[in-house]
Amino acid sequence: MATSNGSPPSTLPETGFLPVDPALEAAVRAKGEKLFALMAAHPAPGIFSKKGAYARLMEWAMRDPAFKTQLFRFVDVLPALDSSGEIVRHLQEYLGDQAVALNPALKTGLAAASLAPALVAGPVKAQVLDMAKQFVAGAGPDDLVKQLHLNTKAGRATTIDLLGETVVSEAEADEFLRRNLEVLDTVATALRASPEPGASDVGPAGPLPRLNLSVKISALTPDVHPADPENSILALKQRLRPILRRAIEVGAFINFDMESYKLKDLTLALFRSILEEDEFRAGPAIGIALQAYLRDCERDLRALIAWARERRRPLTVRLVKGAYWDSETILARQRGWPVPVWSRKPESDANFEKLTVLLLDNADIVTPAFASHNVRSCAHAIVQAERRGIDPRAYEFQALYGMADELKAALLQGGHRVREYCAVGQLLPGMAYFVRRLLENTSNEGFLRQKNTGEATTEQLLQNPVELLATGKRAADAGQAAPAAFRNAANTDYTLAAAREQQRAALEALGARLGRKHPLIIGGRKIADREYVPSVNPARPAQIVGHWAKATVADAEAAVAAARAAFPAWRATPAAARATILERAADLLETRRMEVNALIILEAGKPWMEADADTSEAIDFCRFYAAEMRRLGSPEITQRTPGEYCTQLWTPRGVAVAIAPWNFPLAILTGLTVAPLVAGNAVIMKPARQTSVIGAFLADVLFEAGVPPGALNYLPCFGGEIGNHLVAHPQVDAIAFTGSRAVGCRIWELAGRTPPGQANLKKVVCEMGGKNALIIDNDADLDEAIPAALYSAFGYSGQKCSALSRLVVLAGGYDRFLERFLSACPSVPVGDPALAGTIVGPVIDGDAQKKILGYIEQGKKEARLAWQAKLPPELAAGGGYFVPPTVFADVRPEHVIAREEIFGPVLAVMKARDLDEAFALANGADYALTGGLFSRSPSALERAQRDFLVGNLYLNRGITGAVVERHPFGGFKMSGGGTKAGGREYLQNFMFPRAIAENTLRRGFTPPEE
Ligand SMILES: Cc1cc2nc3c(=O)[nH]c(=O)nc-3n(C[C@H](O)[C@H](O)[C@H](O)COP(=O)(O)OP(=O)(O)OC[C@H]3O[C@@H](n4cnc5c(N)ncnc54)[C@H](O)[C@@H]3O)c2cc1C
Repeated sequence: MATSNGSPPSTLPETGFLPVDPALEAAVRAKGEKLFALMAAHPAPGIFSKKGAYARLMEWAMRDPAFKTQLFRFVDVLPALDSSGEIVRHLQEYLGDQAVALNPALKTGLAAASLAPALVAGPVKAQVLDMAKQFVAGAGPDDLVKQLHLNTKAGRATTIDLLGETVVSEAEADEFLRRNLEVLDTVATALRASPEPGASDVGPAGPLPRLNLSVKISALTPDVHPADPENSILALKQRLRPILRRAIEVGAFINFDMESYKLKDLTLALFRSILEEDEFRAGPAIGIALQAYLRDCERDLRALIAWARERRRPLTVRLVKGAYWDSETILARQRGWPVPVWSRKPESDANFEKLTVLLLDNADIVTPAFASHNVRSCAHAIVQAERRGIDPRAYEFQALYGMADELKAALLQGGHRVREYCAVGQLLPGMAYFVRRLLENTSNEGFLRQKNTGEATTEQLLQNPVELLATGKRAADAGQAAPAAFRNAANTDYTLAAAREQQRAALEALGARLGRKHPLIIGGRKIADREYVPSVNPARPAQIVGHWAKATVADAEAAVAAARAAFPAWRATPAAARATILERAADLLETRRMEVNALIILEAGKPWMEADADTSEAIDFCRFYAAEMRRLGSPEITQRTPGEYCTQLWTPRGVAVAIAPWNFPLAILTGLTVAPLVAGNAVIMKPARQTSVIGAFLADVLFEAGVPPGALNYLPCFGGEIGNHLVAHPQVDAIAFTGSRAVGCRIWELAGRTPPGQANLKKVVCEMGGKNALIIDNDADLDEAIPAALYSAFGYSGQKCSALSRLVVLAGGYDRFLERFLSACPSVPVGDPALAGTIVGPVIDGDAQKKILGYIEQGKKEARLAWQAKLPPELAAGGGYFVPPTVFADVRPEHVIAREEIFGPVLAVMKARDLDEAFALANGADYALTGGLFSRSPSALERAQRDFLVGNLYLNRGITGAVVERHPFGGFKMSGGGTKAGGREYLQNFMFPRAIAENTLRRGFTPPEE
């Protein structure tokens, strides 16, 4: 390993953190104490130093986590409120009487607020802005130049951060690019006028670039798709190149900030790739942030150092712990993915220290920048550098504007270089940055809180994190969810290159063996001598995925007979044994995940992530219904009474028919099949004709898992004649159906008849369509609402019963929303679903295409065509069934496109005067399946729970993507019979309850009670 300045060779262990070295420890403590002593001479910065309002507010927030949440949520929504009345309403909803904490003068104001809201709103807004100002160096380039001069005078270097992180459209990304270029120009001009560098602007080899700009890649394009890094990088480079070119011209340094984990690999790949381009091989001066709270940070840092050496490209690494610990932990746990961050705070600290050494050992090629407000972390870096004899000017410290000012001063006094990270921009749009700073200042385990509130002693603050880990009791591992009977399958993380490779390989392998014939399976016999129907890839209809044997009415009869014959033995199979078969099927699906995903991509035209979610849901249905059957399989005591043993148990109905749709070709088919099956019914499985090859795959999996012949029968056919025959059959006892309203209602009616010979009243589990609405309140967070609405409407071309088809926007924000939303629409990639980045693929077949295009024509007649995608010509050339995503605005409730289910990528935007009208519009449909509300008003959210009548209501998130058990799925009105797939009561639809009472009193005695 290379070392610098003749420093000792590295003692960095390959695994684990740094071993405790008593001599080094003593030196770190001494250095830390010295820093503390220097810091004592300077006032604590920002919110902790001000006496009065801020200090009290922060104190209260730290004491009372519930108040803290409410306060920070209010701060977060404030920029979206454009009237005094709205500010006062939100203030009262979030904080109630506690609002006086913001300012005691509000006490009287709040009482009078209903009369004169401006009396309260003005001071509150001013107060919050004043607080936010402490963390923001100014609004525009002029403020920035002033701050730069101040910093230079004080000896600090600067890095500039332009506030504003989420861009949803090309226009917003262009604007962000323009602001970056403007800042580079203005500041460069200003610096030319005062060329004297500050103390921190000089490195060992002379002056460093004084103009230093930090860039967040997510603000450079709306097209960041972590699962499609190749295209994302192409898009990002379009806007990064002008910045790098300008940086070369004006001699600026560019730093890549590091954001969420899902962008990490992409950011690193982009960094390397653009710097390998000829024009950027030698310049500009460049750096990147790496996050020590990530478990794989060391690997990334080593790779980056190796790259820098190989390319002889000096760079700076800003070592941080990381700003997104909570969200990384929560999101990974929500998705069942490994948590990428360390779970204990001292682990992040210890990793920071280890990586400090790694950086210092490579300081000849990588300039270390230690960005921490933690005195221990800084002291450790200094001592390690001193041990290696590294010139203090060969590395730097970085700290945020408005934070740790006393540490900055102490470090400067100690002869170190310090760079201040100065956020600049409008305060209101920058509120997200402010909220992050508030969280950082008040975080339980954070150094700043512990130091500034006196919660920890100097000794504790300087303790070696490795020792802390050894002595501290092990906190519950944040990555471990509580053990549960059922756990959801995790979707594939396509941000991982290995996962993308596997998926590509599976698509290729499947592509090489398409076109097989799939016979019927009745009573365990494969029946191959039937007419075969080709099933095609909707993106390229010339590609035949497979052929399925078309069942006849006689086959349907045979299937019913086979099921009837198999039923008694299957019913007698213990529930636990049936459950085990389902669990085996789930395991098989899991091991063949990439293969089945590929099949779904090709036969149903589903984009990767949707196909993968389809597979996860199928696995979940198997495991969840297995767990449910184990629960329901043993008799339950109804009431304990002396002398009588009273139980209730469940018995299967008999023969069930599963009639599935093509839009969740594996998941729904699996759910409709395995629920009655595990309950003990013999099942006839009829997949949709468009996706019957997937049906054949599932049948194979279930037989391989151990389902006996006849208990399951695979009967692909055209729905009309044979479907009706099965539904009306007197020997059929239950029908599990998901599909269109027309077919569902017909089944309901047919099944209601009781012809002679019918054994049971038929049970129909019927899930039909939706005309789902999402309401956008005036105070909605549009950065969240717009991507959620786009995906809910256009993901898988809107071919989900849960898909968004009516966007109801409140009048106050209608124009603002529509403008941003429409400009965001083109960022949704339309294409062949076999490509990783596609979000909108084809619709399922030519009939669907024709029908949806008809609705688009209808929409043009009755509403305003606000946006329509332009399909790339190569899509049409392949003959695929593509429909351009389309948005109509100013749609009224009586319009056809506002009433009928379209089942395609067509969205109707409607305006509502207020929430009353919004709920009336949303509820005013024949359907009641999914719905949603984006709002930051607690009362509006509460009201939606009461008044928005749909089966699945989603608040402040997209309205598709139900997860088994977490979101039991199904609606009412013309959406279905109120049953919930993936819910606790579902299996009971396929069973009869039986109650048994046994007199246990014989000759005057009973067995002992259990
Ligand atoms: C100039 C500057 C630039 C920055 N740029 C970026 C950037 O580009 N990207 C980025 O992500 N961050 C960045 N940060 C870091 C981030 O904003 C925080 O300031 C930083 O993580 C706080 O660390 P600390 O050493 O100052 O404080 P400390 O209080 O010592 O550490 C707090 C940190 O510990 C970690 N942590 C908290 N709880 C736990 C736990 N239970 N288990 C494990 N770890 C935990 C978190 O990372 C938390 O931020 C930057 C910071 C500075 C000063």
